Amino acid sequence: MTSHRQLDPQPAGTSATSSLPLRHSSVTSTHDQMATLAALNLAQTPHQGDFATTLAAHHWSSFQPAQLEIVQINVGKLCNMSCRHCHVDAGPDRTRENMNRDTIVACLRAIDQTNAHTVDITGGAPELNPHFRYLVDECVARGKHVIDRCNLTVLLLPRMQDLPQWLADRRVEVVCSLPHYRQRNTDAQRGDGTFDKSIEALRRLNAAGYGQGDPQRRLTLVSNPVGAFLASGQTKLEQEWKIGLQNHHGITFDRLITLNNMPISRYLEWLKQSGNLQRYMELLVNAFNPATIAGVMCRNTLSVAWDGRLYDCDFNQMLDLEIQAPDGTHPHIRDFNPVTLAQRQIVTGRHCFGCTAGAGSSCGGAIV
Ligand code: SF4
Ligand code: SF4
Repeated sequence: MTSHRQLDPQPAGTSATSSLPLRHSSVTSTHDQMATLAALNLAQTPHQGDFATTLAAHHWSSFQPAQLEIVQINVGKLCNMSCRHCHVDAGPDRTRENMNRDTIVACLRAIDQTNAHTVDITGGAPELNPHFRYLVDECVARGKHVIDRCNLTVLLLPRMQDLPQWLADRRVEVVCSLPHYRQRNTDAQRGDGTFDKSIEALRRLNAAGYGQGDPQRRLTLVSNPVGAFLASGQTKLEQEWKIGLQNHHGITFDRLITLNNMPISRYLEWLKQSGNLQRYMELLVNAFNPATIAGVMCRNTLSVAWDGRLYDCDFNQMLDLEIQAPDGTHPHIRDFNPVTLAQRQIVTGRHCFGCTAGAGSSCGGAIV
């Protein structure tokens, strides 16, 4: 793995940003993002940085899903924050992209046709969707393990005061983003003041029984590098974080997962602007780890967008790379057919090297 000292370790600035459309960014369109990645000269990397060729070289010329275990529902791009690295390009201005009740009902009908054990609810800040609690209740009633991907600060909003206990009562796993247990690193990525708010939110989750070793009240923290380097050493970092948060803030949590930053959306924009894009992509391609392939999230997860379109994963969703049924169509959640979709080929691209670099990176953290 390349040392992060070879790359710019810290995103410029110490404040949050705003959504790409609001700033008319050069990578607002997903077409431009794909073109930016495709235009990089990766001739010096294995297989010229072509993901499909790399897979084929490791006996994965057919890249298909395994058993569907997780339905991940992205209920919208609305968020109370605007983090610099956000791959969803979420923010307070994204009020249009929110899942409506009809689409949520279509998701539930689809879930009923699967043996998926987990429903992973994400956003934006999923709690801001007016149908969030309905969706959670319906999934819990179906006996599903429910995950709320929470940005922590949303829990401080006045109308969310009861949410930690509400989630605890339903045994929802709370998976929280916290880039680092040190204030400086977290605020650099998510905006000034975020760290203090996150600590207060974690205290409230602890008070509701989260993070004390109870499997029914699991509190998971998610960390992604603050800069252009790979996530590393999940187990070692977890110990460091547990000590750091306990000693300095009296906070406890159950596990830490580490994710690589994907070269898409706002993180792609930052890589371009900071001059790190070429080196970061070379880092990802050179760190390709074939042992991660079987465990990438597209193999056991289906991703549903706020408007009901289907994707192999959340990252493909952000790049508008819709799922492709064997007949070449792009089915909507209303047309969900688990048998047909199980036969599809997963849509891939250069961004996929973000999932297979180093120890790998999936919604559940490191893969190997
Ligand atoms: S909290 Fe999450 S969804 Fe919201 S802007 Fe930050 S990274 Fe994006
Ligand atoms: S980006 Fe998506 S499709 Fe590509 S390897 Fe990762 S999970 Fe699979």
